[in-house]
Amino acid sequence: MLNKKTLLSLFLGLMWHNATAAVWGFYAHQRINRLAVFSLPPEMLPFFKKNIDFLTENAVNPDKRRYAVPDEAPRHFIDIDAYGDSAKTALPLYWKPATEKYGTDSLALHGIVPWYIQTMKFRLTEAFKEKDARRILKLSADLGHYLADANVPLHTTRNYNGQFSGQYGIHAFWESRLPELFANDYDFFVGQAQYVNSTAQAAWQAVWNAHAALDSVLLFEKDLSLKMSEDKKFAYEDRNGVMIRTYSAEFARQYHLALANQVERQMRQSVKMVGSFWLTCWIDAGQPDLDSLMAFDFDKQDKKDDEAEKRTWLQRLFRVRAEE
Ligand SMILES: [Zn+2]
Repeated sequence: MLNKKTLLSLFLGLMWHNATAAVWGFYAHQRINRLAVFSLPPEMLPFFKKNIDFLTENAVNPDKRRYAVPDEAPRHFIDIDAYGDSAKTALPLYWKPATEKYGTDSLALHGIVPWYIQTMKFRLTEAFKEKDARRILKLSADLGHYLADANVPLHTTRNYNGQFSGQYGIHAFWESRLPELFANDYDFFVGQAQYVNSTAQAAWQAVWNAHAALDSVLLFEKDLSLKMSEDKKFAYEDRNGVMIRTYSAEFARQYHLALANQVERQMRQSVKMVGSFWLTCWIDAGQPDLDSLMAFDFDKQDKKDDEAEKRTWLQRLFRVRAEE
């Protein structure tokens, strides 16, 4: 039964989640996976299109797992600035040499997204080889998520929510609110998916590009904040009957303008990468015939598992909140 206390903890839990979730917003993740489907070649398109709703809905699974799986959190980011000025030359392309150089604990602390993408690429290729429709779909959805995360500038820094620069809240502002407000005007035609020669290099390149964009993410917000008074910068909005303090529409508009298509660029890049990685796994698996998987449907047990996972996520959320 939902009593007042439970409702309060639900409310606080969701607020807490909104405030700290280090993720592209759910909206952007879902949109990215969905759009990536349309970049696939005719041999892959029917199977992926048939399951497009699954790939869309499950684009956010890895974020939900963060509360239930202790190892999950580091897979979504990498704090490039934790490695100093020589990060680019110091950080190994592959996981094994990285563990030998830094140790797994230290790596986990600063995030592992570019390496974890490689693990997921390997697993998805294996699933294609085995023609295991269930795994292909689950891993495709997950891989899409991590690739999109690797393209978010604030996923490449310790200052991921502006907490060290007096810009607390900038994370969700950039990756949730801006896409929600403006993505309908973005051009998402990214052309056909392309084979990726080195997925390791491509994963890292995404991280370096995102990290190079970080300066303007922080600087433009700061500049604009100096020009706009607090009462113009923030507004209160009704979200499901609750008034929430958020960046005002005008502040969002001006910030978005200053960023000059940056969010659009990063989202487009994500879409292109997701389609290209799916394609690459399929090709590396020997281009298995996916038409034979068209009859696949998630059975009742899968659906039950999904429900159970969602429940654990919520329970975990309450528990975390209660322990604080
Ligand atoms: Zn994430």
